[in-house]
Amino acid sequence: MSDEGRAVVAAVKAVAERLEAERSHLTELDSAIGDADHGGNMARGWSAAAEEVAELDDPDPATVVKTTGKTLMSEVGGASGPLYGGSLVFASAELEDGVTAESAVAFAETYLEKVQDRGDATVGDKTMVDALVPAVHTFKKSVETDDLSPVEALAKAVAAAERGVDFTVPIRASKGRASYLGWRSVGHQDPGATSTLYIMEELLSVAQEELEVAEEPTVDAASPTVPDGEEATED
Ligand code: ADP
Ligand code: MG
Repeated sequence: MSDEGRAVVAAVKAVAERLEAERSHLTELDSAIGDADHGGNMARGWSAAAEEVAELDDPDPATVVKTTGKTLMSEVGGASGPLYGGSLVFASAELEDGVTAESAVAFAETYLEKVQDRGDATVGDKTMVDALVPAVHTFKKSVETDDLSPVEALAKAVAAAERGVDFTVPIRASKGRASYLGWRSVGHQDPGATSTLYIMEELLSVAQEELEVAEEPTVDAASPTVPDGEEATED
């Protein structure tokens, strides 16, 4: 498998594990202002996606992302299935020539554009868009203006998404199920913004691990060198 394809498969698996670990927390958030299915939706959808992408034969990054999106669309109903899944399928085309700083920015922008096309939400509506908009803008600026590496830029984007999640707490929902509650939605954290943050945190952590592997000096890991005269002795 290509290194890039393998890294993206690892990212999908990491996201699936994280969302499984956060299942009950996301369900709790969605039971306060929704219908208590977001944890199950995300955990089920991403675990099915992780299984699907593990089966792919030598996939490139775009194929892994597209397969993930398609699986989310077929496994997850509600608002979040088409928003997450459809937008991933659409944005995957930006990665067809591989993952570079440029293509990652294009991917992020296209993903956000599609979420907003489909869901018609803007910042302040108390949705995943509140985490995504600052994250995508920060990512783009960090790469294009501040000249940061993609991984450093992603770290900044995660921090921005975190602030976006916090911002959803005091505001009133105007889109999705939570909007039915009107002012009673105030004081609760948005589940979709929260799962978006978790996904981004896992992408960052896999990207950091990949970078470490790439930067490691090439030593033969199978036979660690022991300094002369310090060989472990058996009692
Ligand atoms: P459902 O609301 O159908 O039960 P989920 O519980 O899986 O679906 O997802 C709820 C999340 O989806 C919300 O917390 C919000 O972040 C996001 N969401 C809902 N409607 C929209 C929308 N129109 N645009 C963007 N995100 C939305
Ligand atoms: Mg729900």
